[in-house]
Amino acid sequence: MPDNILLVEDEEALRMTVGDRLRKEGYAVDYADNGDEGLTKACQLPFDLILLDVMLPGRSGLEVCEAVRQAGLITPILMLTALGRTADKVAGLRIGADDYLTKPFAMQELVARVEALLRRAPNRPSAAGVTHQFGSVSVDVRGTVATRDGARVALSAREFQLLRYFLERPGATLSREELLTQVWGYSGKMFTRTVDVHVASLRQKLETEPKHPRFLLTIQGLGYKFQP
Ligand code: CA
Repeated sequence: MPDNILLVEDEEALRMTVGDRLRKEGYAVDYADNGDEGLTKACQLPFDLILLDVMLPGRSGLEVCEAVRQAGLITPILMLTALGRTADKVAGLRIGADDYLTKPFAMQELVARVEALLRRAPNRPSAAGVTHQFGSVSVDVRGTVATRDGARVALSAREFQLLRYFLERPGATLSREELLTQVWGYSGKMFTRTVDVHVASLRQKLETEPKHPRFLLTIQGLGYKFQP
């Protein structure tokens, strides 16, 4: 079965170019040319990945992303942002996008990012069915379900991967560089802000007092630690 990708992009030329390339790479591609159609398709059909432009007629890509996460879908989302719109990138990551690519981008880079996201997608069956528990939070690694006080918490694919990485290394201080390499597959220090944004989001969703976290701790000058 080929992986299914939903491409939400209003610029027809780009939609065609990207779609053709992805099909050549062996993916099945479905399209939407506005935010409302994108959201409807994302919620009705099973996709393995969503490529989502930010600037769309009607509902923006950010609004679509937020609504998809609120609906509880963990499908990986790769946002396509316009050059120079750093605020969109940060906002996208905050509301549950997994990665972003700045336009104009090289097709090769797009394909590489898509492959990386699909490879890491947590909805693939994982080795062991393990449940982690801390405070009132319960995390089923295999089912990729997290609950807090019994209610399901909507996490993005990347948030889930990051959380899992922490849970499997209790008490260990993890540097931003290590997290970037192991969870995102990036090397170097270029995107360490991405780690901070995702940790902040996990705290928001899982900690009783996100500003005074009990479990996901900042280790000054070093990184982060999960303290069960
Ligand atoms: Ca656009």
